[in-house]
Amino acid sequence: MIQDEYIPFTIEKQKHIALIAHDSKKKELVDWAEQNKEILKNHFLCGTGTTARLISEKTGLPVKGYNSGPLGGDQQIGSRIVEGAIDFVIFFWDPLESQPHDPDVKALLRIAVVYDIPIANNKATADFLLTSRYMGEEYERSVINYNKVIRNRIQQMKID
Ligand code: PGA
Repeated sequence: MIQDEYIPFTIEKQKHIALIAHDSKKKELVDWAEQNKEILKNHFLCGTGTTARLISEKTGLPVKGYNSGPLGGDQQIGSRIVEGAIDFVIFFWDPLESQPHDPDVKALLRIAVVYDIPIANNKATADFLLTSRYMGEEYERSVINYNKVIRNRIQQMKID
């Protein structure tokens, strides 16, 4: 219902998973993907350019590569979340180094929250997510109904 505060979107049994790791975290994510490839092979995988390539080479799984992070890959993944084409993110970002594309990283983290996307930012969370019963089921995520917010804002602005 368009009047509702939240709109439900279904995360299908087969998830569309984005995999991203900053340079100091790439080995950790590649090893994690290798350890979990029996689960990951049941889903659609994509990632930022370098991460996608490394994971694909190590695991033999198909991983669709977007641009490298510093060249806009995080923004591409964010836009795919907005379009509903990505609904699950594993993003091992580096907490100890600033990145040239810090604003893009922040934007991706924000948009994942806006769209109620499961997102793991470290190995422990990734392990918990991947062993969740929802991995083998559909899940209804809840996205704020911004149409309602826009309508209210327009009413408040009193523009004819
Ligand atoms: P990369 O990008 O996988 O191309 O290295 C990741 C990032 O730095 O956000």
